Amino acid sequence: MSLIVQKYGGTSIGSTDRIEAVADKIAKFRKQGNDVVVVVSAMSGETNRLVSLAQAIQEHPAPREMDVLLSTGEQVTMALLCMALQKRDCGARSFTGGQVRILTDEDHTRARIREIDDSRIHAELDSGNVVVVAGFQGVDDGGNITTLGRGGSDTTAVALAAALKADECQIYTDVKGVYTVDPRMVEDASLLDTITFEEMLELASLGAKVLQIRSVEFAGKYKVPLRVLSSFEEGEGTLISVEEDSNMEKPAISGIAFARDEAKLTVSGVPDVPGVAYKVIGPVSDAGIEVDVIVQNVSADGTTDITFTVKRSDSERARDILNAQATVLGAADVSVDARIAKVSIVGVGMRSHAGVASKMFKALADEGINIQVITTSEIKISVVVDEKYLELAVRALHSAFDLGDPNYQPKQDKQT
Ligand code: ASP
Ligand code: MG
Repeated sequence: MSLIVQKYGGTSIGSTDRIEAVADKIAKFRKQGNDVVVVVSAMSGETNRLVSLAQAIQEHPAPREMDVLLSTGEQVTMALLCMALQKRDCGARSFTGGQVRILTDEDHTRARIREIDDSRIHAELDSGNVVVVAGFQGVDDGGNITTLGRGGSDTTAVALAAALKADECQIYTDVKGVYTVDPRMVEDASLLDTITFEEMLELASLGAKVLQIRSVEFAGKYKVPLRVLSSFEEGEGTLISVEEDSNMEKPAISGIAFARDEAKLTVSGVPDVPGVAYKVIGPVSDAGIEVDVIVQNVSADGTTDITFTVKRSDSERARDILNAQATVLGAADVSVDARIAKVSIVGVGMRSHAGVASKMFKALADEGINIQVITTSEIKISVVVDEKYLELAVRALHSAFDLGDPNYQPKQDKQT
């Protein structure tokens, strides 16, 4: 008998029919003798709807009141799910974050969990009930409702699994698991059986949006076995594991991620003296702008260029800061290019496979794709390319590293 935490996302419980379907699944699982704690999201679209109601009244509502408002979405689904379970003769009780003492800091709309008092949940499980907890919400020391940031139900689930020392934390969603690449871009993307936390963190931070990134950090830190799977289709999904599977020959690359939401800034013709990088990057990061990829050229003529990327939404602000600095810098020019994309390959297998970078560069060269910037870490190589080549680059890399699903059947157009 095991203790499992299951989290159902917005589309998985997006209607009463869907809630009934999920209740069937949970009741069956419970009948098999497992202890089950369920974390629910709001119905899909509900949190956005609440945000727009608030915005119709005030542009910047008080964060405390936003939390009171946004936390209601989950309170609806937790009650409906319990009703559906009780209808199936499966004992179930719902609890808000405050009721099960998910204690957070006071940072409304993006609170962090400090502590969970698991005694009430254990008592309910001991009396044979399924425990349904509202995701995304907690309570601070003063008894105020807090929320954990958009997508925060994933984090609730992982935190509960850690506190309860659950055997597994299962995140049910509308995809079958974690793929080698976004299947909406590459049809023969393969579903991964396992992936390590390190790889998942890289993929999540690089734009693969299967899980809220904080939940992955949390799971890695507390060593919670985490599984992503579909609530619509059968299957084992993807296990995000603490340990690398040492029995298996790891492929060099596990997955490919991409991001379109960056922009590239170049400061050119700066005198190449100590302190230039600091003078360029310093004021930008002092303004709270996150700088991603940075490259500086070696100079032949005593001047140098520095290129870096920022979120596209920050690019104009960064440019204004640099323009204001241009005289101090002695720069010849400051330019912005918002039509870029970042493509990254990720894999712990890179540590033991040589030649991964050159294979990547060759695959891009063979397609005539110019690489503008390159950065690497121990398990990741990222390149910045012209946005118009994004899809081509991703497809080329997916096939160069043999990531395609060998069982993929192209959809045939039916001839009638
Ligand atoms: N309902 C919240 C949101 O839409 C939390 C979640 O679904 O994880 O962001
Ligand atoms: Mg979500």
